[in-house]
Amino acid sequence: MSVKDNLRIIKESLPAHVTLVAVSKTKPISDIQEAYAAGQRIFGENKIQEMTQKWEVLPKDIDWHMIGHVQRNKVKYMAEYVSLIHGVDSLKLLQEINKQAKKHQRVIPCLLQFHIAEEASKFGFDEAEFNDLITSENISALQHIKIVGCMGMATFTEDQHQIRREFRTLKALFDRAKIKFPEISTLSMGMSGDYQIAIEEGSTMVRLGSSIFGSRK
Ligand SMILES: *Cc1c(COP(=O)(O)O)cnc(C)c1O
Repeated sequence: MSVKDNLRIIKESLPAHVTLVAVSKTKPISDIQEAYAAGQRIFGENKIQEMTQKWEVLPKDIDWHMIGHVQRNKVKYMAEYVSLIHGVDSLKLLQEINKQAKKHQRVIPCLLQFHIAEEASKFGFDEAEFNDLITSENISALQHIKIVGCMGMATFTEDQHQIRREFRTLKALFDRAKIKFPEISTLSMGMSGDYQIAIEEGSTMVRLGSSIFGSRK
């Protein structure tokens, strides 16, 4: 099936309150153009350099979301244009995003990434680190970032119960984060293999790659 058909079927199945991020990492410009022609405007990438190369040549009304792990020394390459950074996992990173956003006289929306999976390889705050963050004075001083929600990735497993449990944990953390940051409204949770469960557990934003563009190498 074509990118256009995949997108149409997925969009029809998503509830109105769930935003679709089309994850175009590793995919060519032509695939993004096809999705764009079908009306998609939000694209997710996990490498800053690749995202910037695509941003340079593609229409400027695309919203670019950074969904991958962010190295602090690369924030400057996307600060001018990035619409949402999903993977914020430290105060130091927030401070760097704030600094770079200030240079461009803008406010960059950010999601706090939580570590909910069993795998040690996935990034994000744990509960204790999150507590440190929200009680830190430093965070209120950051005028050029806006924390608009939370993000997390479930364990890569066949075990649906485990996935659901991890998403529930994330939803509970999201509800707690809302108390500290009243502007929080986005819960980025769910990928091609688990987004239906994520939506049942309260997701407001799903990040889908292979189910739109086909599998990656
Ligand atoms: C690659 C990626 C996705 C999309 O994965 P699919 O399984 O292809 O839908 C979603 N979120 C993150 C953080 C990713 O790195």
